[in-house]
This record gives sequence, C-alpha cells and structure tokens, in this order.
Amino acid sequence: MITEKTKIWLSSPHMGGQEEWYVKQAFDTNWIAPLGPNVNLLEDKIAAFLHEDVEVAAVSSGTAAIHLALILLGVSNGDDVLCQSFTFSASANPILYQGANPIFVDSEKHSWNICPDLLEEAIVERIKKGKKPKAIIAVHLYGIPYDALRINKISKKYDIPVIEDSAEALGSSYLGIKCGTLGDFSILSFNGNKIITTSGGGALISKSKKMKEKAIHLATQARDDAPHYQHSKTGYNYRMSNVVAGIGCGQMEVLSERIAQRRRNYQFYKEQLEVLPRISFLEEKEGVFSNRWLTTVLFDSFYTRELVRTELLKDNIESRPLWKPMHLQPVFAESSAYVNGVSQDLFERGLCLPSGSNLEEADLFRITNLIKNTLQK
Ligand SMILES: *Cc1c(COP(=O)(O)O)cnc(C)c1O
Repeated sequence: MITEKTKIWLSSPHMGGQEEWYVKQAFDTNWIAPLGPNVNLLEDKIAAFLHEDVEVAAVSSGTAAIHLALILLGVSNGDDVLCQSFTFSASANPILYQGANPIFVDSEKHSWNICPDLLEEAIVERIKKGKKPKAIIAVHLYGIPYDALRINKISKKYDIPVIEDSAEALGSSYLGIKCGTLGDFSILSFNGNKIITTSGGGALISKSKKMKEKAIHLATQARDDAPHYQHSKTGYNYRMSNVVAGIGCGQMEVLSERIAQRRRNYQFYKEQLEVLPRISFLEEKEGVFSNRWLTTVLFDSFYTRELVRTELLKDNIESRPLWKPMHLQPVFAESSAYVNGVSQDLFERGLCLPSGSNLEEADLFRITNLIKNTLQK
C-alpha cells in the first residue's frame, strides 16, 4: 500500500494554549454576544502591541473594517477610490459595496506594493479630469511594508486620506513604526490563514476615540440613543463576537513568537535555496521589518514556477501563486488602472511557500529538498 505523505499546508492556524481559557470565560459568564470583556481586552492588547496612540475597534472581518473606513471617510456612490492592484480582492471589494469606483495602481519593484510615482501620476490625471479621488488603499503585501514615507507625503500633498490594509502585516514595521498605525485608518485581519487568527475577525484602527465610537455605532446597526430602536442611517452587523475575541486574546499572547517563527521559515528557505539558479528572494530594505507572513519566491519564468508548484503538489505540499492583480480580475474588468507591468510579472513568476508558524524543521527540509531536486534537474 502506498501511503500518502502528510499534507503540508500553506499557512494553518496555530493556537498558543490560552485561547480556550478565554473562550471558557465567555461561556462561564454567559457573554455569548458581539460585545463583552474579551472584545474589550482584545482591543486593549492590540493597542498595547502597536505602541501608538491608537484606537482599536474589533470587528467581524478585515473586509468589514475596510468597508467601515470607507464609510467614515465619506466615500459614496460614484466616488473614485485609488487602490493597490497587487492584493487580495478583499482590499477592493468594499469600494464596490459603497457604489464607488476602484482605480487600480500597479506596484513598485522593491516592495511589490503600490508604486508612489504611479500613484501620483494617477492623482494628477484624475484631478485634471475634474474629479479628485476620495481615498487611497495601500497594502503591506505578505508582510512587507509599502513605502509609507512617500505614500503619506503624497496623501498630504493632495489631501487624500490613506486606508492602510495591514491584514497581512501585523508585527511588521516601517522605520520603527508598527504597520497598522501608518494610515489615517488601518485595518487588521484575523482570518484563519493570517499570522494570528480568531477563526474569522478583524480590527479597524483609527486615531481618535470619536472615530472608534463612530465605527462601533455603524458596526452595531447604527442605533440612535432612544429607548426604542431608532435609526437615522444605514447600519451594519460587523462587531466581533465575545467568543471569538477570546481566541484573539490567547493569540495575542503568542504573537511575538509567531513573528519569530515565520521569520525563521524565511531564513531557512533563503539559506537552503538562494544559491540555486532560477530562484530569488525579496529582502528587507533598510528601515523595514517584515513579519514574513508568507515566504514568497520569484522564479526566472512562469514555466519554472509551475514546475515547482506541481512537483510540490504531487508530494502533498500546498503552495500558491502570488495574488492575481485586481486589474486582471474579471470582476474589475471595467475599472480604470494605472499599470506598469510589475504586478503581472510577479503574478506570473512568483510563488508562496508553506509558511505556517507550526512547521517542523523536517517539513522545511522536505520542501527545500524537493525544490532543490526540481531546480537541479
Ligand atoms: C485577508 C486579507 C483581507 C481581508 O481580511 P478578512 O478578515 O478575510 O476579511 C484584506 N486584505 C488583505 C491584503 C488580506 O490578505
């Protein structure tokens, strides 16, 4: 009998141990609701980790957090919103929820994130056409920070606020400043594949208590202050449950370990594979610290990428091409885009390697040996 090798996942949940204790607290005190002590504690833990004077609102997903940020910035029907094209669709979908138009901006080579030159070009052209974009959505993809210094300068110069999509970058920093505090609004995700998870969840980070209160108001059906249920604007059911917040409280206790483990994965891959032909790594530039959520590599061609991916798959190892840019997605076919070819090239040649913080050294050797054999054939 041929037994199948154990599956190696791209990025699977990794509990620290205390999560169930917090969840049990929720049960023991009957706080089975989209509010409660775990929700407040999780918000405090996140704020403490980010070290900044920030306000954190725990919500049901990262996508919900982006949607709330757009609403709070007044984005509505017919408005234009600039958005990094090289990202997961969740960065851009909430623009459509608001009836607004995404305008996609391609990436720069050295961070793989939104290209400041192209962003400014897009803004100038849009203003010339008589319509200033309402917001910029910039993303720290795979945990690598975008060029926040230049993006924020452009944001100030043209007075267009930034929504910082930090879903993949909890634990990363830029010039010593934590990702999640670099935008006018920032968002985090605690989806199952992220560096820490609540099974599903997210957070909206803002700079004032008033904004946080507004966000929570919208996220809890926008109920006005009255004994009966009174509503004067559209509300949403986006608040985080106290049960899943318990998972988040436990996960925050091991976040630093998780970052170290993910960075160790990257280091291992790099040491084992960088001498090989046809493969390259994305290094941290000066002043940048990545949580290395996923280790990503580039091959010399689409053909090599596919060869490696399919060899891994045959051995029951999950890997994945890099995100397909939004300007190439059928759902956004009608949207405008400022394109330089960088993200399409990355999509064609790039691969995410298994990057879970729970990978054993034996798993990593199994993966790197297979890649070595494939590339040396
Ligand atoms: C995961 C992710 C999101 C969305 O988060 P959810 O919690 O899954 O809604 C948004 N942007 C990026 C870049 C992501 O990777």
